[in-house]
Amino acid sequence: MDSMEDKTMSQVTVKDLMIPSEKVAHVQTNNPLEHALLVLVKTGYSAVPVLNSSYQLKGIIGKSIILNETLGLERFEFERLSEITVEEVMDTDIPVLHEHHSYIDGLKAVINDPFVCVVDNEQYFDGILTRRAILKQARNNYYLANQTTYQ
Ligand code: AMP
Repeated sequence: MDSMEDKTMSQVTVKDLMIPSEKVAHVQTNNPLEHALLVLVKTGYSAVPVLNSSYQLKGIIGKSIILNETLGLERFEFERLSEITVEEVMDTDIPVLHEHHSYIDGLKAVINDPFVCVVDNEQYFDGILTRRAILKQARNNYYLANQTTYQ
């Protein structure tokens, strides 16, 4: 397998740039929102993937969805966090990528989202591609093309 340095932009795939599933924080469909908020606050991420017990991707849950759900008429009703499960409120209308997709496919996918989930043909979760990884690759290629150094 070629190293990333040996690959031209057109040879780089989503698999080369993604964060693999074992390094991605996630929650499960049947977790209460309380648990999801804890994961989000502790990791500092604004949203994480939602998986079922077989590790298939089912959606994404973020802090803003959770806060909206707990917003009552006059105050945040945080006691509701333990009564609602992640699958009741998660975002299910999400784009996905596959490992074999190209750099440009990945770039198009992260224009509207800070990260996009990567799955196989049966929706088993493989990892995520972040906008940061796409931008870093673009920077590296720019510097390579211009033969300058960077940190
Ligand atoms: P970053 O590229 O670090 O700015 O991440 C952008 C977004 O991608 C974060 O706010 C999270 O929603 C998601 N993300 C990045 N890395 C991880 C990870 N290791 N586990 C779960 N979500 C992640």
